[in-house]
Amino acid sequence: MRKLSINGCLFDADGVLYRGSEPIKGGPETIKFLREKGIKVGIITNNSTRDRESLLEKLHALGYDFRADEILSSAMMAAETIASEKRNASVFVIGEQGLVNELKRANLQVITSENEKADYVVVGLDRQCTYAKLKIAMNHIMNGAKFIATNTDLTLPQANGSFIPGAGALVSALTASVGKEPDLICGKPSPFLYTRMLEKLNLKKEEVIFVGDRVETDIKGSIVAGIHPILVLTGVVSRETADNVLMKNGIKPNQVTVLPSIKEIISLERIVSLTDNAQGK
Ligand SMILES: [Mg+2]
Repeated sequence: MRKLSINGCLFDADGVLYRGSEPIKGGPETIKFLREKGIKVGIITNNSTRDRESLLEKLHALGYDFRADEILSSAMMAAETIASEKRNASVFVIGEQGLVNELKRANLQVITSENEKADYVVVGLDRQCTYAKLKIAMNHIMNGAKFIATNTDLTLPQANGSFIPGAGALVSALTASVGKEPDLICGKPSPFLYTRMLEKLNLKKEEVIFVGDRVETDIKGSIVAGIHPILVLTGVVSRETADNVLMKNGIKPNQVTVLPSIKEIISLERIVSLTDNAQGK
């Protein structure tokens, strides 16, 4: 039996490594196993509400041994992108503390009023968002501020199986008000998180697989980025709905490997055979 020939494995977080406050069974052991095989690991997440310390704290509490340099969120990506475009830029934020912390870490000036000039408006999930905040954001964009979305997930699954409006709901409200789409969407399915993480880990797309639970963001983005995707059924998609969701998103069965959960990654032969099939070998 041939061995899986990858040098890296990227993961989405929620629905893949954990669900709510519970780790996915066998998850921490899988990460350890990959490390022992010399395979680099990394997390790319659309979640913009936590900063890197807070995300690491959660992962460590659930038994995962990830390091700070193995994590990239849509909030970190937004901060890095803005800082690389304009040093000390002023930013009006619709978002939570984690996003604000990442922007400040990148030496950006977070402003809160309509009277200061904003170079950028960044929109992420904000569970305290008010009409007043939307109004200020709208006016900054109308006055020339660049409109950046951390991600456009319309809903966010909760631990009890219900959903809440995601960052995309707020992005849509602003898009409708200002009459234009965001200038940049940092999160999946845009390819930026994938390609930046490959750079950080010094890996090529051909030697990496990506594990996600959401077809319209994780799996679509992975295909756009040229990375073979693994869809796990521990998040938003179930075994019963998987085929339907993939079809609806225009994804052919041979473009994706479907596994019950993260722990089946250890059965390397299976991934090799499916990946080889996908490449028509
Ligand atoms: Mg997820």
